[in-house]
Amino acid sequence: MAALTDARRLVVKIGSALLVDRLTGALRAGWLASLAQDVAWLKGQGTDVVLVSSGSIALGREVLGLGRGPLALEQSQAAAAVGQIRLARAYEEVLAPHDITTAQILVTLEDSANRRRYLNSRATLETLINLGAVPIVNENDTVATDEIRFGDNDRLAAQIAVTVGADQLILLSDVDGFYSANPADDPAATRFGVIDRITPQIEAMAGDAGSGLSKGGMKTKLLAAKTAVSAGCAMAITEGSVLRPLTALSQGANATWFTAQTDPQAARKGWIAAMKPIGTVTLDAGAVTALSRGKSLLPAGITAVSGTFGRGDAIALLGPDGAVIGSGLSRYTAREAGCIKGHQSSEIETILGYPGRAALIHRDDMAL
Ligand code: GLU
Repeated sequence: MAALTDARRLVVKIGSALLVDRLTGALRAGWLASLAQDVAWLKGQGTDVVLVSSGSIALGREVLGLGRGPLALEQSQAAAAVGQIRLARAYEEVLAPHDITTAQILVTLEDSANRRRYLNSRATLETLINLGAVPIVNENDTVATDEIRFGDNDRLAAQIAVTVGADQLILLSDVDGFYSANPADDPAATRFGVIDRITPQIEAMAGDAGSGLSKGGMKTKLLAAKTAVSAGCAMAITEGSVLRPLTALSQGANATWFTAQTDPQAARKGWIAAMKPIGTVTLDAGAVTALSRGKSLLPAGITAVSGTFGRGDAIALLGPDGAVIGSGLSRYTAREAGCIKGHQSSEIETILGYPGRAALIHRDDMAL
C-alpha cells in the first residue's frame, strides 16, 4: 500500500462539499487554512504538490443568488466565472503565510486530448512546480460546454496527475473510501482498504450518486482510479472534512488505496513508444551518445529531417547509419526543425524569428 509520506509528486483533489458550507454557501475558511498547513508540511519535506479544486460554481451561485436548485449550463458557467476568482483568492490567502506562491490553471478536456495543448499545459505545470509554486487547477467551466468538458473534477484530477507524472493522487471527499455497496442504504457495506485491481466486480459496486454540491460519485472516482493507476499513479479516496486531512491520512485515517500498476516514467515511455511516428530526424554520433546518457535532443545534433510533422507529433530518431534508435514528441514542426538542424539552441530565435524551446525533443518525451 502506498504511503502519503513517500510521495514525490502529489495531486490532491478537493471537492466542493469540503470547501463550501452546504447550509450557508460560505467558504469553510478554517478548514482551508488547515489544508494549507498540510500543503506547507508536505512541501517542506520535498513533495511537489498540485491542487485540483472544485468550488467555483458552489461559491458563485451563492453570490449571484441562484438558489439551491439545479442550474442550467449557462447559469453554472456564470456562477463559475464569479466563484473562480474567490476560490483562487482564498487559496492565495491561506498559502501566502507559508511563503507559498499560488498559481491558477484552468483547463478543458481539449487541453489533454490535443497533444500539442497537452504538452503546453504540461510544460507550464512543470515550470511552476520547479519554481516552487502550487498550481491550483480547475476546469475552465466558464467556456467548457457539455461536449468538451470533464464535468467532474475526479477525472480532471486524474488527468492532471498523469500530465504532471504524479506518483500519488488523493481524492479528498465526503466519503472515507470505496465501499462494496452504498453505505447510506446498505448497513452491510464494507470499505476496501486496498484495491490492487479494478475488476468488473469492483466496477459493479460503484453506484452513480454524487452528493448535493459535487458532480462526482463513486463511478467517476473509479474512472479516475483507472486513469491514474494505469499511468503509474497510486490513488486514495479519503474523508476530507476533518482539519488537516492529509496529516490524518498519513496517520492512518480511513481510506481506500488503489495500487499503481507501473511507475509514471515507464507508463509515459510506453505511451510514446506506442505512437506511430509521422516523420524522422537523423542524429549525429555525438547526439546518440548524449541521448544514451539521458540528455534531451538539441537541434545541433540533427543532420537530416524528413516527413511533415507538427508540434507534439511523434517522430522516429535515426542513428547516423539510419537505424531506428527510438522515438519522441517533437517540440518543433518539420519545417522549423529543417531550419534549425545543426545549429546551436542560442541561434534558434535568430533563425526562426521567434524564440523557441532549447531542445527539439525533451528527454521526458522520448522512448529509446
Ligand atoms: N469544476 C466544478 C467547480 O469548480 C466542480 C466539478 C466537480 O464538482 O467535480 O465548481
